[in-house]
Amino acid sequence: MTETIEAPAALKQINHWIGGRRVAGESGRRGPVYNPASGRQTAEVDFASVEEIDRAVQTARAAYEAWREVSLARRAEIFFAVRELVHERRDEVARILTSEHGKVLSDAVGEVTRGLEVIEYCCGLPTLLKSEYSEQASTGIDVYSIRQPLGVVAGITPFNFPAMVPMWMWAPAIACGNTFVLKPSEKDPSASVWTAELLKEAGLPDGVFNVVHGDKVAVDAVLEHPGIAAVSFVGSTPIARYVYEKATSTGKRCQALGGAKNHMVVLPDADIDMAADAAVSAAYGSAGERCMAISQVVAVGSVADPLIEAVRERIPKVKVGDGLDPSSEMGPLITGAHRDKVASYVEGASAEGATVLVDGREGAPGEGFFLRPSLIDNVSPGMKAYEDEIFGPVLGVTRVASYDEAVALVNQSPFGNGTAIFTRDGGAARRFQFDVQAGMVGINVPIPVPVAYYSFGGWKASLFGDRHVYGPEGIDFYTRGKVVTSRWPDPATSAVDLGFPQTR
Ligand code: NAD
Repeated sequence: MTETIEAPAALKQINHWIGGRRVAGESGRRGPVYNPASGRQTAEVDFASVEEIDRAVQTARAAYEAWREVSLARRAEIFFAVRELVHERRDEVARILTSEHGKVLSDAVGEVTRGLEVIEYCCGLPTLLKSEYSEQASTGIDVYSIRQPLGVVAGITPFNFPAMVPMWMWAPAIACGNTFVLKPSEKDPSASVWTAELLKEAGLPDGVFNVVHGDKVAVDAVLEHPGIAAVSFVGSTPIARYVYEKATSTGKRCQALGGAKNHMVVLPDADIDMAADAAVSAAYGSAGERCMAISQVVAVGSVADPLIEAVRERIPKVKVGDGLDPSSEMGPLITGAHRDKVASYVEGASAEGATVLVDGREGAPGEGFFLRPSLIDNVSPGMKAYEDEIFGPVLGVTRVASYDEAVALVNQSPFGNGTAIFTRDGGAARRFQFDVQAGMVGINVPIPVPVAYYSFGGWKASLFGDRHVYGPEGIDFYTRGKVVTSRWPDPATSAVDLGFPQTR
């Protein structure tokens, strides 16, 4: 008897993008890309060698001199074209995001829309790059400042926002006149190539935006390359620390955003329904794989029981399924290994003394990398479920007696990305904003990602470097200042004077 074996569908090949075209990898090294909803491999992505990184940097360098000469008016025109194309095609890229990352389509559209805000901000680049001018700073002397690009800059990005986080970087970098090399996450790399094609169509000259895929080899080659002036990184804290130390030791400017453990403090006077809706949305949206996800509720005093009950009631209603199904509200996790790691925190919580109220390992659908939401009560410092960034759909609750205890808990965390307070008391909210050690604070807002004309970034182990991303700090990061002191021949001010120049 002959057995018919179905031939596996051909895997899509994801290549680098260098100098305005796709370039097949030559290192012979590749990585798998999965559809997390089916658990099946759908593509393989080239991993760059040191030589391929060098080729991308040389290409970006060759494009740099011409790009920095391009007028602000023309650069803005290109940015408006980019804005139109991303706006028109956001559903197309959202499908790419869902099929490689797993997040549900509405969330993927939300990601692109928030990234688009940064592109829109950059459409105002002529205004953003305006500087200062002091006429007659000294007699006959004018002083002015200008901001100039750095050269070739690089971005290294995480899996959880494969379109938006690169937009946080390339948009301001290119607007400021730099050329860019992007090393996206190897887990969901297609959105970067999609972006490269779109930028070309919008009229961006070849070589200004390049994509090289890969793993540690590619990252190290970026960090060591003498032709790269600055590195922006977003990812987990251990790698952020490593990238910052290595990049700065080779003389590069660096901003490296790390992981998070975001606490949501709920005071006894809070609106319970509002707080419960917010906790469920912010803990389980995108399967908890957001650096601004709420992973820990700090329930103050009498609010704990009713709040936990309200969260618990909502959990069974969360529709977990394939992100391409419009009725799904939460998709799978990024890989099987990550799903298992997240599940291990739920497994270990009871042994550490916590109370697993809802176990998301039960009832997860299908073949893919799914978990359902978990809720764990009585989580406290010292437990793994409290200390680690789980980065999955697991919400812990810590009960405390007072506002002071709640703030002390938030502030002892090594992370300082985002935090939120839920209360009806304006004075308490204002106090919290003053007291709390985190870069982004929400008042009855669980995911306080700043709008594009402010800047995004955490404190402590959530950011290495001193510039936040996008917004005014992004423009600052991707430019360097020059101050010009000028005098023009004017018979009224010209005289021989051997003294040290003084303002007169
Ligand atoms: P990750 O740190 O594993 O990977 C980020 C990037 O670093 C990827 O491009 C990856 O290829 C590269 N990388 C991984 N291991 C490396 C190594 N050993 N040496 C050199 N490079 C390496 O992060 P991830 O799992 O892709 O993303 C999730 C993490 O990112 C979470 O910790 C999350 O909190 C964080 N994150 C932070 C922010 C923020 O704004 N602070 C935003 C999004 C994600």
